[in-house]
Amino acid sequence: MEKLIINPNCQPNEQGYFGEFGGAFIPEMLYKNVDELKTHYLDVIQKPEFQQEFRQLLRDYVGRPSPLYYSKKLSTQFNARVYLKREDLNHTGAHKINNTLGQILLAKHLNKKRIIAETGAGQHGVATATACALMGLPCTIYMGAVDIERQMPNVERMRLMGAEIIPAESRSKTLKDDTNEAMRAWINDPLETFYIIGSVVGPHPYPDMVTLFQSIISEEIKTQLQEKEQTAVPDYVIACVGGGSNAIGAFYHFIGNQHTKLIAVEAGGKGVSTGKTAASIAGGTKGILHGSKTYLMQTNDGQIIEPYSISAGLDYPGIGPVHAYLHDAKQIEVIAVDDQQAINAALDLAKNEGIIPALESAHALAALPMLNFENNPIVVINLSGRGDKDMLTFQKFIP
Ligand SMILES: *Cc1c(COP(=O)(O)O)cnc(C)c1O
Repeated sequence: MEKLIINPNCQPNEQGYFGEFGGAFIPEMLYKNVDELKTHYLDVIQKPEFQQEFRQLLRDYVGRPSPLYYSKKLSTQFNARVYLKREDLNHTGAHKINNTLGQILLAKHLNKKRIIAETGAGQHGVATATACALMGLPCTIYMGAVDIERQMPNVERMRLMGAEIIPAESRSKTLKDDTNEAMRAWINDPLETFYIIGSVVGPHPYPDMVTLFQSIISEEIKTQLQEKEQTAVPDYVIACVGGGSNAIGAFYHFIGNQHTKLIAVEAGGKGVSTGKTAASIAGGTKGILHGSKTYLMQTNDGQIIEPYSISAGLDYPGIGPVHAYLHDAKQIEVIAVDDQQAINAALDLAKNEGIIPALESAHALAALPMLNFENNPIVVINLSGRGDKDMLTFQKFIP
């Protein structure tokens, strides 16, 4: 019987702190909503009935376990044994569905009647609309007015699955505003509404909850490596980081094991020193963002700096508090990869392997030439999603 295995090396305290990071910095009006979640989330998701239903959906609806693919060409090129964890093959084309299914099951167990979410690029919106269609719950997605225009195919996918899209019109019209609008909707209806967050960000217990749902990725990597390499312990795990949910999922069961090097790859954008970047560890300072203490890109007087990356999913001004903690505790290494390096890695994978990666995932691939492997190590790259959604960008670079 599959059980949720909790890693004691990656657990927040009662108040939701990983070391000095995390917590729940929320307006008083939200105390009740967040407190209800905090009180119940662990009990509910550890129940055998919950785990059974969750894992059955992951298997039969999402298509898990996602394959662990040995790439001969990357292995030869980089003097390593390189495996790709194929989250791109999940239903809806990325890892986000693992989390939205987990949260919607939790919402059902807590008797919630409607779902709200906010989305920037639209990937989390699509994964949420999918889960809502499956479960028959009404779904409202808040999205910046500018993003609605930029991401029309995703908007149409959500509508096709029955979601209502509400444009957030204020200020810069991108992610910051729709988060506020979604929060307002949640405050207005705390009893019936469940707010699904798409990464390991937000107030406690969201970062921990999302971590636990995504931890299925490293759980599978262990079993698959045992089969293929007769060891459950890789030498490296590499993943891209926007908020950090695919990365923490791929790292989770290896955290605290001194052998495995965990490499988180941020979006450098046009280069960390240019200011046109989304690298919040390389270019950020400590502060409060979306309800938790973490590293974020801000001016000296605390104004959020608009992030930039060629990849919409990594274009976030902060990083999940768990990564801020693991970075300061030297348990993960964080590196930055810029737009051009990511594009090159994506073009190479498409041409050499017949796999078009998401631009986000291409950042993880681009770390390979930066790591100087010795002794033919086992390297796992989390291929967080597929690149169909990025074709408009790739088109400009086809040689
Ligand atoms: C959203 C997204 C990401 C970034 O989100 P994380 O929470 O950092 O994982 C990465 N890859 C893909 C394919 C995405 O859709």
